[in-house]
Amino acid sequence: MNDTLIKDERPMTASEAVAWYFDRAADQLELDPSKREMLKMPKREMTVEVPVEMDDGSLQTLVGFRVQHNNARGPMKGGLRYHWEVDLDEVRALASLMTWKTAVVNIPYGGAKGGICVDPRKLTRKELQRVTRKFIDQIHEIIGPDKDIPAPDMGTNSEVMAWMRNQFEKYHGFSPACITGKPVEDYGALGREEATGRGVGILAFKLLNRLGRRPQDIRVAIQGFGNVGSHAAKYMHESEFQIVAISDVSGGYYRADGINIPDALRYVIENKSLEGYKEADKISNEELLELDVEMLIPAALGGCITRNNAERIKAQFIIEGANGPVTAGADPILEAKGTIVLPDILANAGGVTVSYFEWVQNRQYYSWDLNRVRQQLDSVLSKAFEDVWQESTERKVSFRTAAFMIAIRRVVRATELAGI
Ligand code: GLU
Repeated sequence: MNDTLIKDERPMTASEAVAWYFDRAADQLELDPSKREMLKMPKREMTVEVPVEMDDGSLQTLVGFRVQHNNARGPMKGGLRYHWEVDLDEVRALASLMTWKTAVVNIPYGGAKGGICVDPRKLTRKELQRVTRKFIDQIHEIIGPDKDIPAPDMGTNSEVMAWMRNQFEKYHGFSPACITGKPVEDYGALGREEATGRGVGILAFKLLNRLGRRPQDIRVAIQGFGNVGSHAAKYMHESEFQIVAISDVSGGYYRADGINIPDALRYVIENKSLEGYKEADKISNEELLELDVEMLIPAALGGCITRNNAERIKAQFIIEGANGPVTAGADPILEAKGTIVLPDILANAGGVTVSYFEWVQNRQYYSWDLNRVRQQLDSVLSKAFEDVWQESTERKVSFRTAAFMIAIRRVVRATELAGI
C-alpha cells in the first residue's frame, strides 16, 4: 500500500512503491533502463483457484498466488501469507522485497512470495488444512528445494508448513528442504520461530551501538505483538531497552515506566491476545505510532506510516519489523525530519536467514543446537549491518537506499556472471 500520488493522482500501489525505492537506488548506481526493467519484472506469476469444502459441506472458492521474482542468486525464497487483503499486486511487491532482502544479507537465494486471500481466523483447523493442501496441489510443480522454497508469513505458522511439506511429498517424495519454518520436531530449525523478532532486536542494538547510544536510554513502542513483535520485545527487554508500548488487534497498551514484557508475554499465552491487559493504559494503534518515544518498531501490517501521519511521528529511529510499513509518500517526509529508518529488507531479514540455516540442516541431515543458530544469525546480520552502514556513510544516502544499492549490485553481478 502506498500513498504517493502519481500522475493521475491515485496513490501508488505496493509494487509501484517498491519500484520507486528500487529506482532511487538504481539512480545512485547509474543502472541503465534495460537492466532496471529486467530486474523489476517478476520471472513468473501464478494465480490459482483454491476450491475448498467447508465443514458444513458447502463449497468456497478462494484465490491464491505465488510470484517468483528473481533467481539470479539461487532458488527463490519467501513466505506464504494468509490474509484477507492479499492480492496479486501486494504479493508482487513482497516477492521483489525478498530478492533484495536475501541479497542484502548475502544468502544464496532469490526472491518469491505467495498467499491466499482469506481470513484464517474464520476457518476451522480442518478447513485451514484443506485450503493449504489444495493450494499446494496447485503450485507444487513450480516449488521445491532447488526452485522455490516457501515459509511462514502473516497468518501462517509451523503447523501450516508441516501440512505443506506433507502435501508436496505426496507428489515428489521425501523432501524436508522444500519448505522452511517447519515444527522443530519435524525437520524444523531451533531458533527459527524467534528469528525475525530477535533479528529486529539485534539490529536495533547494533544501530545504537554504532551511534554511541545506550539501550537503557531508549524508549520503544512496538506495533504488533505477534511472532515478530513479541520476540523483538523479549530480546530487547533482555537487552535493557525500555519498552513503553505494545499493541495487537485489540489495541495499544502504554506504560510510561516500561511494560513488564515477560508478564505481557505470559498474558498473551493465557488469553490469546492482549485484550483486557490491565497493567498499562489503553491507547489506539494509531496513537502508539505517534508516541513520544525514541524508537518505533512497526511489526504488523504494511502501510501504517503514511504521508498523513509521518509528520507526527516523534521517534528518532524506526526499525521496520513488518514488510513495507513506511509508504513511499511517508519516506521523504521522515528523511527530511532526520528520522533514521532501518529498512525492512535488512531489519526483518533474521527470519529468512534462519530459514536458510534450516534448509542447510535439512540438506545435510544434521541439526544445529540453538547456540549455533543464534551465533550464526548474529554474524550474518552484523556483516549485513556493517555493509549497509558503510554504503550509507560513503554515498551519503539513507539506510534504505544503501541496502537497495548493495542488493541490486549483487543481483546484477550474479546475472552478468551467468551471462544474460
Ligand atoms: N516471511 C518472511 C519474510 O518476509 C520469511 C521468509 C522466509 O523465511 O523464507 O522475510
